[in-house]
Amino acid sequence: MTGLPFPRVRPATPALPEGATGLADQFGRVARDLRVSVTDRCNLRCTYCMPAEGLPWLPKPEMLTDEEIVRLVGVFVALGVRQVRLTGGEPLLRRSLVDVVRGIASLSPRPRIAMTTNGVGLDRLAAPLREAGLDRVNVSLDTVDPAEFAALTRRDRLHDVEAGLKAAATAGLAPVKVNAVAMRGINDTSVVELLQWCLDRDYELRFIEQMPLDAQHGWDSSTMVTAGEVRARLEERFTLTELPAEDRGSAPAERFLVNGGPATVGIIASVSAPFCQACDRVRLTADGQVRNCLFSRTETDLRGPMRDGASDAELVRLLQGEMWRKARGHGIGDPGFVQPDRPMSAIGG
Ligand code: SAM
Repeated sequence: MTGLPFPRVRPATPALPEGATGLADQFGRVARDLRVSVTDRCNLRCTYCMPAEGLPWLPKPEMLTDEEIVRLVGVFVALGVRQVRLTGGEPLLRRSLVDVVRGIASLSPRPRIAMTTNGVGLDRLAAPLREAGLDRVNVSLDTVDPAEFAALTRRDRLHDVEAGLKAAATAGLAPVKVNAVAMRGINDTSVVELLQWCLDRDYELRFIEQMPLDAQHGWDSSTMVTAGEVRARLEERFTLTELPAEDRGSAPAERFLVNGGPATVGIIASVSAPFCQACDRVRLTADGQVRNCLFSRTETDLRGPMRDGASDAELVRLLQGEMWRKARGHGIGDPGFVQPDRPMSAIGG
């Protein structure tokens, strides 16, 4: 057992309007971007995500099988999802990942398939994943300073991540994106070096603010490095030109041309300037729970009904019910905000 009290809800009668189609919510947003967590396990221990000792992992019988994942993604695709991002935990730790990608790529209409990974092991897997149908990859890398990397991830795997990034580019998983979180006192002063490193290798860097999703509940708004701070630091070395907001769509990153372009850098102010209004995401956890928001405190179980023989039409109603009740915003900063019980690694970042 995980020891974490995972909320599970099966809405008996979702308050959906007659004839509702797709994955709409009551505020008019429509989900088109599905994040699928294929495992809750990870081989790094990033301080903003997991405790040093790790977490009690999901027992195998509770995890969706490859066939179950592909079937459920097919139901999402039939409801209008057009992009599927595989995540975790660390998705590369799922032994059958290449088969999962191949299964999703065989759906019709075929969704775009992306993956968020820490890059450890990607040197071996980039080519087979590409061949199976993976289109794009985001590699999480917060610093290229070996001591900072070890302090942040509690592992000495920087070389593996670098090799993974190289292999992704060689395999044609372009544009290769790098995701970074700036942590005060660890890597907040080296963001300039990270950007220069990415520019030199043609990787597209995006910073994201640290969110209250760590298993240890150690997040503190007063010490969080804000998007504004990251921008100010980068501007000490680079000229950043803001790209028009209309180019942004539902993408959360504010994007800037670096030194006149064509290279860009993104800064995601998920806490200080949330983009909930434009959110088009929905999440499926490794144990088959649907979440309408990273910060939701409830979720809808699809695994149970599916294993009990639910038809696709029944799964559709469950999914639509979950999406319909999506909150207007994530609520971080509201007086009554309570962090979700599941940490980021168990939801799928
Ligand atoms: N293991 C994969 C990886 O490292 O990319 C996928 C899962 S990880 C949870 C996905 C992303 O979430 C990573 O880029 C990680 O940096 C980010 N992340 C984890 N905890 C976070 C937090 N508390 N705030 C902001 N981002 C976080």
